[in-house]
Amino acid sequence: MASRNQNKPPPRTPLTKISNQDDGPNDKRRKVTTGRIMGSTAASRRRQATAVVSNRQDAAVGGNAESVNEELESVKVEFTKEEVDVLINEKIRAKKFDLKGKMEQMNELINKLKLCIKWFQSNEEEHIQELEKLKSLLESAESRCTETETAMKNKEEELNKVIAELKQNIALLQNKLAEQESLKLDAINAHKREKEAMEELEKVHASLIEEHQRAKHEIMDVNQKFASVNADHKRLQEYNKSLQHYNRQLQADVATANDSVKRIEKEKSAIVENLSTLRGHHNLLQEQLTSSKALQDEAIKKKESLGSEIVILRGELQQVREDRDRQLSHVEELNATVAKYKDTTGKSFAMLDDLTSKSNALEERCSSQTEQIQILQHQLAAANEKLKITDLSTSEIRAEFEKKNRVVSELQERLREAELQIADGENLRKKLHNTILELKGNIRVFCRVRPLLPDDSHGTDPAVAFPTSGELVGRGIDLIQSGQKYPFTFDKVFSYDASQQDVFVEISQLVQSALDGYKVCVFAYGQTGSGKTFTMMGRPEAPEQKGLIPRSLEQIFQTSQALKTQGWRFKMQASMLEIYNETIRDLLSPRSTSSDIIRTENGGSGKQYAIRHDANGNTYVSDLTIVDVCSINEVSSLLQQAAQSRSVGKTDMNEQSSRSHFVFTLRIYGTNESTEQQVQGVLNLIDLAGSERLARSGATGDRLKETQAINKSLSCLSDVIFALAKKEDHAPFRNSKLTYLLQPCLGGNSKTLMFVNISPDPSSTNESLCSLRFAARVNSCEIGIPRRQTIRPLESSRLSCG
Ligand code: ADP
Ligand code: MG
Repeated sequence: MASRNQNKPPPRTPLTKISNQDDGPNDKRRKVTTGRIMGSTAASRRRQATAVVSNRQDAAVGGNAESVNEELESVKVEFTKEEVDVLINEKIRAKKFDLKGKMEQMNELINKLKLCIKWFQSNEEEHIQELEKLKSLLESAESRCTETETAMKNKEEELNKVIAELKQNIALLQNKLAEQESLKLDAINAHKREKEAMEELEKVHASLIEEHQRAKHEIMDVNQKFASVNADHKRLQEYNKSLQHYNRQLQADVATANDSVKRIEKEKSAIVENLSTLRGHHNLLQEQLTSSKALQDEAIKKKESLGSEIVILRGELQQVREDRDRQLSHVEELNATVAKYKDTTGKSFAMLDDLTSKSNALEERCSSQTEQIQILQHQLAAANEKLKITDLSTSEIRAEFEKKNRVVSELQERLREAELQIADGENLRKKLHNTILELKGNIRVFCRVRPLLPDDSHGTDPAVAFPTSGELVGRGIDLIQSGQKYPFTFDKVFSYDASQQDVFVEISQLVQSALDGYKVCVFAYGQTGSGKTFTMMGRPEAPEQKGLIPRSLEQIFQTSQALKTQGWRFKMQASMLEIYNETIRDLLSPRSTSSDIIRTENGGSGKQYAIRHDANGNTYVSDLTIVDVCSINEVSSLLQQAAQSRSVGKTDMNEQSSRSHFVFTLRIYGTNESTEQQVQGVLNLIDLAGSERLARSGATGDRLKETQAINKSLSCLSDVIFALAKKEDHAPFRNSKLTYLLQPCLGGNSKTLMFVNISPDPSSTNESLCSLRFAARVNSCEIGIPRRQTIRPLESSRLSCG
């Protein structure tokens, strides 16, 4: 039965020689200082830490390692980033054969690293706790905030409703007010008009009364005049009568005078006789006669003047009569007018009454409306007051809300900072972890279990399980076969739901180091259908499902662009090959077809594809197409071309791709003009052929040959790895094309990572168990410490691209 311990590394043998000849000028790994102990008693604690370290050494010498660990745990040591960097980059310096010295240095270094890791773990825990606290704080603040927000929103809505109602009311009231005012204005206008009409009528009435009075006076005057004229007329008639009487008297007088004349004449005669006597008498009489004649003339004149006077008086009378008639008709007219006036005045009085009552009604209405308006204005004022209060409370709430928002943003800021710190810490952890692994010199192994597919056998539980608690979360995997559990531990275990990005994140540092001048080798191992190609290549057409190869290239191009600002220029060269039945096939060759393979196999093609390694550990394959690449697009089209070349070789029974090893190589030449530094890194990404055993594949003929070739190359791979692990003098690199091609990457100078791909299908349990056992053995192998390849400025050659 396999146990978790089976893949634990054997105790590390002291290093034979750590040379620093390859270290660049910037290599920080030379200097090592002890960790810093914080606090007021830092010096004493440092002494304590050092004491602990030296005690540990003593104890290690004395074989009491556990007590040392306990002591280590009891000490609280703190490190700065620089110290950690120094620690990481520390080099072991001892004389060539001073194994003990080296061992002690190693132990010391490991102790320091342990201290550092412990410190880092405690730091991380603190960070996580703080983060959780912050998160809970944030959540509570957010929930409070959302509560107040909703309350505020509700309140605001209510207030808005009230405001809207009030506004409606106000609008209604204002409308009403406007109506009432217009009514009032109408009424006032009507009232005014009526008043004016009434005034006019009153004036007319007064003038009529005056006229009536005047007419009455006139009538009276006329009556008086008439009476006086009548009296005059009577007097004149009487005078006329008296004149007629006088006239008649005068005529009688004249007759008597005539009689007297005759008698006088008779007497004359008598007197003539008595003439002498009488002459005297006669003269007297004559005189008497002339005077009487004068008197008569006078009377006649008087009579004539009286006659003319009568005519005048008659005319006057006539005139007076006419006058009187006219006056009478005028009086009649006036009477008629008076009657008419009386009539109209009666009517206008009624109208006046009507108007007065109307005006009274209007005034009443007006006053009631004024009252109503006053009430409405009161209401309006109250509503305005209320509005002001609600405005005030709204602004208060708003202020509170803003305060809360500020608190939230502060908390978010702190959370962000904490997250950044955690991310930094995580990066540091990864770096430290990498460093430890590098120092250990192990091949790192990541395990990835693909999800169950529709084609997998149904109705059965998956054959794998993952620890859900404890320190093995994310690192452990349990394989279950016929009720038995086989636990394994790797550097990282990806379960079904791990995305391509999740997987890439874990290897991105490794990819990055190719740009720093390391040889990096990532290969995927596992049976056919376990997800090797999906992991390495993915489905490039779906961005989410791109595999490690396209993602690594993207990162390399992005980082090389970013490094331009620091003076770095990179030149990249890509090549892709396939090893099928121990034959190399160039996937970027313009005429790459399946017949190529046959020709090559038969030695018919001119191309040899011979593998050579130079003194610097660089590998060359003769006749292999090498393409200069400057952008991810170029690499994408090359990958497409390679995929097409691979699919040409497909057979009916099985995909050839799963029967061949696919090797993608990217050589990176970097030069920094400002620092005159040059680096040369290699990134090998390898999709191995299916690892299933011969019995399982049940192959015959060609297929048998294929399977044998695959098994041979894979067993050669394990032979090489195990020989390296055992530090054997001779590792059988040359036994297969694959191991010979990868020699520099496996031989100790490179960073090697193996993915072991597992299918969760219960029918694959046997193969999965074999794969996991192989991976666990690989994981425990130490193949050496990776070294950065730098070129001294003078050696620099043809670097141009980038
Ligand atoms: P291999 O290369 O090991 O023979 P493949 O990569 O071709 O296996 O995977 C076999 C099938 O499983 C493919 O259809 C692939 O899309 C699918 N597959 C593998 N790994 C995953 C994964 N992590 N998520 C989803 N599908 C996967
Ligand atoms: Mg495949």
